[in-house]
Amino acid sequence: MRTVIGLEVHAQLLTKTKLFCSCSAEYFGAPPNTHTCPVCLGMPGALPVLNEKAVEYALKAALALHCEIPHRSTFARKNYFYPDLPKGYQISQYDEPLAVRGYLELPTGKRVRIRRVHLEEDAGKLLHTEDGVTLVDLNRAGVPLIEIVTEPDLGSPQEARLYMEELRRVLRYLGVCSGDMEEGSLRCDANISVSLDGELGTKVEIKNMNSFRAIEDALSFEERRQRELLHRGGLLAQETRLWNEKTGQTEPMRSKEESEDYRYFPDPDLVPLEIDDAWREKVKRSLPELPAQKRARWAQEYKLPDYDIAVLTEERPIAEYFEAVVRLYPNPKDVSNWMMSEILRLLKEGQTTEITLKPEHCARVLEMVSVGQINRTVAKDVLEESFKTGKAPDEIVHEKGLLQISDESALAEIMTKVLAENPKAVADFKSGKEAALSFLQGQVMKITGGKADPKKTRELLLQKLREP
Ligand SMILES: [Zn+2]
Repeated sequence: MRTVIGLEVHAQLLTKTKLFCSCSAEYFGAPPNTHTCPVCLGMPGALPVLNEKAVEYALKAALALHCEIPHRSTFARKNYFYPDLPKGYQISQYDEPLAVRGYLELPTGKRVRIRRVHLEEDAGKLLHTEDGVTLVDLNRAGVPLIEIVTEPDLGSPQEARLYMEELRRVLRYLGVCSGDMEEGSLRCDANISVSLDGELGTKVEIKNMNSFRAIEDALSFEERRQRELLHRGGLLAQETRLWNEKTGQTEPMRSKEESEDYRYFPDPDLVPLEIDDAWREKVKRSLPELPAQKRARWAQEYKLPDYDIAVLTEERPIAEYFEAVVRLYPNPKDVSNWMMSEILRLLKEGQTTEITLKPEHCARVLEMVSVGQINRTVAKDVLEESFKTGKAPDEIVHEKGLLQISDESALAEIMTKVLAENPKAVADFKSGKEAALSFLQGQVMKITGGKADPKKTRELLLQKLREP
């Protein structure tokens, strides 16, 4: 039994303008057909001009995927007829793509080979209204995409999902794609074949998967469907199927079009794209540290558990924030704990991705805890206030008088009062109920507004309770 999966991913590049004209590429939410011009509307005589930024972004992605960059690539017309395609063809790359033979390393260490990365323009969008009318919006027509095609190296639906997650991380680290699958900025088609004898089976294509979960679910469904059919002695058709999120099934769409159907031919309006060594090296040098490198370095340098590394390297700004705090307060595990619990919580609550807390303020709070100036409970409040107001932690602590009470005589005085007021708890403790200690400790915290040094409080309480 063998499952073989290959993925074709379309990623929308975050350029300001479209691939072959100067129309804005930010089509999402814009009034229909306002980001258009004779070029992207396919008017006769209008000529395309290649967007250099799009080439640079595509190069970044290709180099991050360890691809070879041929010195020359060409644009081709992919001909088909559909109302969202004003020219009657899509400008893409065919036999001479921008990049070839790369790989993406998954967090498991497995390398998935990349067959090719090429540039192409997106089509428009059709809107089907409730009263059965179909409207055409061409704002998206001509927006730059890269298509990233893997070799059939993925062995399971779970691995396909890991690949997509890692690819998205890489593209977001590079800042070349938003990675938003719901808005369609990152789209994925899959090829899957299942065989019982280990040979390559019949290839079935699946479309319409709009989330990581959908990719895994659709491929799992398809793997099961194909296995059952083969076990019954049935034959698989080479076809394209659509994932239906509601029914949780794939459904046949149309018989697979052969690539010949598109009648590809070189676009006579565009000269070959030449990328010399200097350009390639310049882009290569501009690449940031990528997620896989970062994970490996963090494991070595910070000795953090895999889980912490995975959480904190997921987004580049979070990862960079972590490193900024560690530079000031070199206790990686402590910083990791505070970030994963408090800072990520504050981001989630504020529904923001921007950490408004300055790294030096975060480091200062952690330092105050480590030297016993404030306790952890107070520290959480200080962090939150500094996060929301931008105030320095020292200022907050002094204004509110939050310094920890660890002076023994001051604590002893409070305790005498607490013990006198709670004779039942004292008796309970003396008769062996350990829980009474936590209650008494809670009373001390209450009186001090949470500022008592918890460790000392506990020690002193025990001492007093054991006095004859
Ligand atoms: Zn245009």
